[in-house]
Amino acid sequence: MTDVRRAQLSDNLARVEDRIAAACAAAGRARDEVTLIVVTKTYPASDVRLLAELGVRHVAENRDQDAAPKAAECADLPLTWHFVGQLQTNKVRSVARYAGMVQSVDRLRLVTALSKEAVRAERELGCLIQVALDAESGRQGDRGGTAPDAVPALAEAIAGAQGLRLDGVMTVAPLSGPYAGRQLAAFERLMEISTDLRATHPAANMVSAGMSADLEDAIRAGATHVRVGTAVLGVRPRLG
Ligand SMILES: *Cc1c(COP(=O)(O)O)cnc(C)c1O
Repeated sequence: MTDVRRAQLSDNLARVEDRIAAACAAAGRARDEVTLIVVTKTYPASDVRLLAELGVRHVAENRDQDAAPKAAECADLPLTWHFVGQLQTNKVRSVARYAGMVQSVDRLRLVTALSKEAVRAERELGCLIQVALDAESGRQGDRGGTAPDAVPALAEAIAGAQGLRLDGVMTVAPLSGPYAGRQLAAFERLMEISTDLRATHPAANMVSAGMSADLEDAIRAGATHVRVGTAVLGVRPRLG
């Protein structure tokens, strides 16, 4: 069983690696400008262990209930855990124990909670501001994220918060609104937001964009991190 699964994951990783390398070459970018994060949500800790053996160093989860026990089982592995889901403040204490990076920071209350729990856990948490490109001013996106015009205020809050480090921006290509079906345009808009952010916060240079279906568009637009689930682990048994 394990050998079959290992071979499967190894093949899938090789295919994703080929896609990333080809996209970097097509964009005139060096391969090492792009980091692969494997999204392991809904898959067991045994898969995370195999991925680590196959050289994966970054994994992502979107639900604390699933992620916390998995991260505990895999605590001996050299992995950075990224939290990429909508995050309720009552889950922040748990997330702050295992996550190295929270990619879904989208409101001031969450910044306050993350800071408090990072300090309590005596850890530094990297933060990405999740931008909802289809959200209007003052609103959240359907799948989380802040409207683009709230990015500067959130950035100031994170940069000034104890225990937090402002690392950049993240988005999920919108399913509705003006960017629906226009992934490249969406990722190019995220790059503009990143450029604006770096004018005041030069170290916040991470741009997390692109999933199994659209990682090429993300790399072409300038993403530094792609988040790939299905193409590595297989089609998820349920939505997540
Ligand atoms: C599930 C998920 C991914 C990965 O999606 P795939 O299509 O399976 O590659 C990436 N980012 C976020 C925020 C996710 O929730």
